[in-house]
Parts: sequence; structure tokens; C-alpha cells
Amino acid sequence: MKQSLTDTTTKNHLEHRLCSELKGVGSVLAQRLAKCGIRTLQDLLFHLPYRYQDRTRLTAIRDLRLGDYAVAEGRITHSAVKFGRRPRLECTLQDATGQLQILFFNFHPGLQQHLVDGAWLRCFGEVRGLGRQLSMIHPEFQHVQTGDEVPVEQTLTPIYHTTAGLSQQRLRDLTDQALTLLEQGGLLAELLPEIILQHYQLTELATAVALLHRPPPQISFAQLEAGEHPAQQRLVFEELLAHQLSKLQLRQQVNQQVADPLPATQEYSDSFIKQLPFTLTQAQQRVIAEISEDLAQPHPMQRLLQGDVGSGKTVVAAMAALQAIEAGYQVALMAPTEILAEQHLAKFSEWFMTLDIKVVWLMGSLSSGLRKAMLATLTSGEAQLVIGTHALVQADVQFYKLGLVIVDEQHRFGVEQRLLLLEKGYQQQQIPHQLIMTATPIPRTLAMTAYADLNVSVIDELPPGRTPIQTAVVPNTRRSQIVERIIETCRKQRQVYWVCPLIEESEVLQCQAAEDTAAHLQQVLVDFNVGLIHGRMKGIDKETIMSDFKSGRIDVLVATTVIEVGVDVPNASLMIIENCERLGLSQLHQLRGRVGRGCVESYCILLYQAPLSEAGKQRLQVMRDTTDGFVIAQQDLMIRGPGEILGTKQTGLANMRVANLVRDQYLLTQVNEVAQQVMQQYPQVITPLIQRWLGDGEKYGRI
Ligand code: ADP
Ligand code: MG
Repeated sequence: MKQSLTDTTTKNHLEHRLCSELKGVGSVLAQRLAKCGIRTLQDLLFHLPYRYQDRTRLTAIRDLRLGDYAVAEGRITHSAVKFGRRPRLECTLQDATGQLQILFFNFHPGLQQHLVDGAWLRCFGEVRGLGRQLSMIHPEFQHVQTGDEVPVEQTLTPIYHTTAGLSQQRLRDLTDQALTLLEQGGLLAELLPEIILQHYQLTELATAVALLHRPPPQISFAQLEAGEHPAQQRLVFEELLAHQLSKLQLRQQVNQQVADPLPATQEYSDSFIKQLPFTLTQAQQRVIAEISEDLAQPHPMQRLLQGDVGSGKTVVAAMAALQAIEAGYQVALMAPTEILAEQHLAKFSEWFMTLDIKVVWLMGSLSSGLRKAMLATLTSGEAQLVIGTHALVQADVQFYKLGLVIVDEQHRFGVEQRLLLLEKGYQQQQIPHQLIMTATPIPRTLAMTAYADLNVSVIDELPPGRTPIQTAVVPNTRRSQIVERIIETCRKQRQVYWVCPLIEESEVLQCQAAEDTAAHLQQVLVDFNVGLIHGRMKGIDKETIMSDFKSGRIDVLVATTVIEVGVDVPNASLMIIENCERLGLSQLHQLRGRVGRGCVESYCILLYQAPLSEAGKQRLQVMRDTTDGFVIAQQDLMIRGPGEILGTKQTGLANMRVANLVRDQYLLTQVNEVAQQVMQQYPQVITPLIQRWLGDGEKYGRI
């Protein structure tokens, strides 16, 4: 069975052999298999069951437990069709220990003839209650003879993800054939070096795969279901390793790429810092230095700037931009929403005005005349900084000399958008530097994996003088008290956000809800101005509303989650979030981060729709207890899985086949060690490993 590392290209290896060589696989079936991502025999073997059923033993009816999937057997003592709201065929099955009802709705008339009194039946299904009796609804069944020793299954029954026209039985049949081939040995390349297998006590690949397709009956079912069986963990290890290697490889590639060095001259940055109304925190200074050093290198910077909401990332971005501009290059800053882009525009224009730097903007809502003029300034090099939304990546946007790309709130962008923007700076072999900013903190081990291809800077300190936001969780029914609270806040010349998040999966409805709320609030808040902002408004209207809120002409801003990212109005000190139970914790944290930006005491009221589940209560408790983004992210990760936090598209990590980043976090440190070792000592297995686990998905790590 043992495989050597060197002969992975052998043609009879299962990775090179198509499923069409199996018995019964014609073009139709081959297409259906392809729909499940299965082309080669190796694909088929890596298409592992996602759960199992235990049909290896008969359970006496007396021993059946609610919720179990079980095999039971007995004689039909009664069989009748019952008419009523839902006509059904109902049979009573009896063995020596008790009775079980089996029910069929919408049954074929012929079924009744099969299930007559006196027949012996073996059933497999979920055990449910029916009044005080036990039942199975639509069990799989077969006729058996009394006293027959019809064998039960020899292994646990695998259940595969499948597609229309591809039955479980068919998949079992095909995997049986593939497993027979596997038994011949030598056909599935063991890519992990022997020494690593031994050191980490990993099961051999072929053994693990065979076991997972057909687990023996004595195996721990619970362990298997939890994904914690050594055979599973062995595959998890290999998959995590493949991801890690792909990132390290990317990083290596980047280090071989060429960029124009952008050394700091301090021409602008010194006077910029002097004119700031605050001093930079230690953390800001540290990350600015890290970025500055990267920019001066002849390789493209690929730096991720992590910092909790309100930690002051914008000014760091400004410093990076200045260094590139000083060196004679252009900078593009991309933000995920028009509101945020507008705000950056206002801030950077103000900051850079005295420095005589030309700042332009590009958004979807720009008139075509204005847009043309903006584009011209970019092509000519007259504009040094452009701020915009994804409108920046459109085909006709061309730069004179793009040296640095800054992406704010990176988790909101797809990889393709970032890549497209970056490509605008490609010149001959040169690639622009890149700074990616995110407010989504993720646990450290996870960061090592998710961002292994990037250098990471962390702002781990908030600007001084912030008072922590106080959070209350309040049922929806107490809205009237909240109005009092708003009035009180506005009387103190402070401002308020009222957020109406997604109620249905419909933006229209969401905006409608916000409109209704705004109208209602304006009625009860006669002395104050209520404004409304949502995603379906025109760019120019949004702009007016935001600037009115900023200047204080609007006291209460009713908004959809469009204000989630980046919005910065330090005088706002109260936020109400409706339907908070429907939002993820990280999203609530982002939203809440819109207040507590100045030095006044700030409050956040989370309004929920009763009743709350126990888990729901716990989640909101987390929001009340902490304002630490890392703690919140860890909780969110456990509750909702990694997809939400990492952003599937950014990392490719959320679509893993066998690994689960939450469950398998504990392996990451080992995996990182092994990845380093493989890079140095076994480079020949890198490509086959990445190919096996990531296939074409590899390109997602590219930027
Ligand atoms: P985020 O990291 O969430 O993007 P911002 O860059 O929007 O945060 O900064 C939040 C607020 O803190 C802004 O009003 C900004 O002007 C202010 N700020 C940034 N750095 C400092 C500092 N060192 N001292 C005081 N205030 C600061
Ligand atoms: Mg920001």
C-alpha cells in the first residue's frame, strides 16, 4: 500500500484516471458526477460521506429511542389505509419486544399489496413518536423471511452529497469499485513524507480514505459524526496543509515580483502630522513605520492592516498614501460603499488641501461628463490620489503611474475586484504596493492560516480618551422609553443613529422599514430633525444627508446597515439597533463602532423581538459584556463558523472539504510547522498537494 513521493506522475494513478472507466459510467452519469466535482477516480475517493447511518445491527423494538436512525424488524399485525386530512397507509410491526407503527403518506396504491398482515419486514428509518407509540415515517424496508439470517450491513452506511439522478446506491456502487482499485495499492499517492506521518502519528492516506467510505461497525459513531476520528483528522491535516502551502507559495512568488520602491522623503508627511488635531498612538506609529519600510522595498508590499473599529486606520492609510505621492506615484483608495468613499474623500481633501495634492473621486453615481474629466486627471497623472468605490475597477479607468492600492474594509470586496484594481498598476514587470485594511479581528492562530500570504500589522490600541460604549439589550416592546432617551440625548446636543437592519432578504423591504421608522420618529420628536439614509437613495442625496448629519443639522439619523462600515461622526453618542437578534456579532460590533468615537460617554441599545432563544440571549450577552473585537470575533466564529468572519472570497478557507476551521483550530500550529518544513525539505509535494485539495481554487489566494 505504501507510496513513494517521487512517482506521483505515474499514469495509472487514480488522479489521472477518469470515472468513465468504472462499470456503469456512461456520459450521462459522468456528467452528473462532474456536477458534484467528481471527474477522476481520485476525486471520487475524496468525495467523502458527510454523514453515516448505522445499519449494522438490528435493534429490538423495545430498545428504539426517539431520534435514532435504526434497523428494526417484525411481523405486520395490522395494515390499513386511513383517510383524513392526510391519507396514509399505517402498519403495525411487532417483534418479541414491542410494537412499532410505520407510516406512508402519498403512497403508491401497489404498496398496500406488499404490506399485508403477516408479512415480515425489516425497516430502516428515524424513530419518532406517534401519540404514545413509536413510529417510522417512510422507512426504507425490505421483506425478510422469519428466522432468515439476512445479513445486516457490514459497515456503517455512508451518505454522500449528491445531485439529481445520482442515487446514494449508485455512489456506493461506484465507490465500491474505486475502493477495490485502491486495495491493489500504489494508486493513490501518499504525498506526506513518511517522517511527518510518523512524527504526527497520522494515518496513512489510503487507509484513512478506505475507512471513511466504509467504516467498520465497531468504530465510534459519535467520534465519526463529530469529525474527530483519526482518519478524518488525517485528511483535515492534509487539507489545511495544502491551504497553508498555497499561501506560502504565493508569498514566495510575491517576494520574487518587482515593484518600484517608494522611499519616504517626509516632504509631505511631516507637515501632515503637524496639522493633525491629535497625536498618533504608539500603535499607529508602529504600523506606519512597518508600512513605510515595506513601501521602500523593490517588491510589492502585501500588507494587511488589522485594527478594531475606531482604532484610527484612516490616518495610517493617509500616511501610506503620502509616502507614495512623495515618491511621485499615484494612489487609489477603494471603499465598499459610496457613503464611506464620500467620507474618505471629505477627510483626505481636508487633510491634503494645504499640501497641494490633487484628490479626485470615482463612484457609480458620477455623471458621465464629470467622470470623463476625472478619468483624464488620472491618465495624465495630474491627480495623485483617487478615492472611490468598486467603480475604480472599471475597464476605462487608467492611471499614469499607480504605485499604491489601498483597500478599506477588505471583507466587503471580492478577490476579483481587488485584483482588477491592482492590475491597473501593472507596468512591464512592476506591480503596485498594496495595503488592505480590515476591522474584523480574527483569532491569532486563524490569522496565521487565513493571512499566511500577507504581512500583518495590528493596531492594538484605541486613541486615548475614549469611554467604552455601554450596551443594553432591550425588548422591542419598550420603544417608548427609548424615545425618551433619544430626546434626552439630543437636548445635550448629541446625535443619534437608529439602525433598521435586514428584516427580509429584500433591500426594498428594508428601506421601507427605515422610511416608516423615520416618519414615526419625526412625529414623536417634534423638536428635532430626523434624517433617513438607505442604499436605494441617489448618491447625491446620501451625500447631503451625511453632511447634514455631520454638521449637526440632523439630530437623529435613521439608517439601514449601509452605515455599517467606516462612518465616522464623533458627536453621535447613542445608537439603537432594531432586530439585533438577526445580525451576526461581528456585524453588531461594526455597527456599534459608529458611536464611541469621540470622548463623550456613548450608548448602544440593542432592540430585540421577543422571544429570544437561550443561544440568542447568550449571544447578545456577549455584546453587553465586551467591546473587544477579538473576543466578539471568537464568539462569532464559534456560533456561525468561519465563513462570515473571514469572508469566503478573500481566503478560500471557508469552502474546505473536510476541515472545519473552528473544530480543527487546534491543528493549525502543527500544520504551520509542517508547512514550513515541506517548503524547505520536500518542495516536490507542494504542487500535487495544492492541486489535490484546492484545484483551481488556488487563484483565490493570489492577492
Ligand atoms: P477606523 O480604524 O475604524 O477606520 P478611523 O480612522 O475612522 O477608525 O478613526 C476613528 C476616529 O478616531 C476618527 O474620528 C479619527 O479622527 C480619530 N483618531 C484617529 N487617530 C487618533 C488619535 N491618535 N488620537 C485621537 N483620535 C484619533
Ligand atoms: Mg475605517
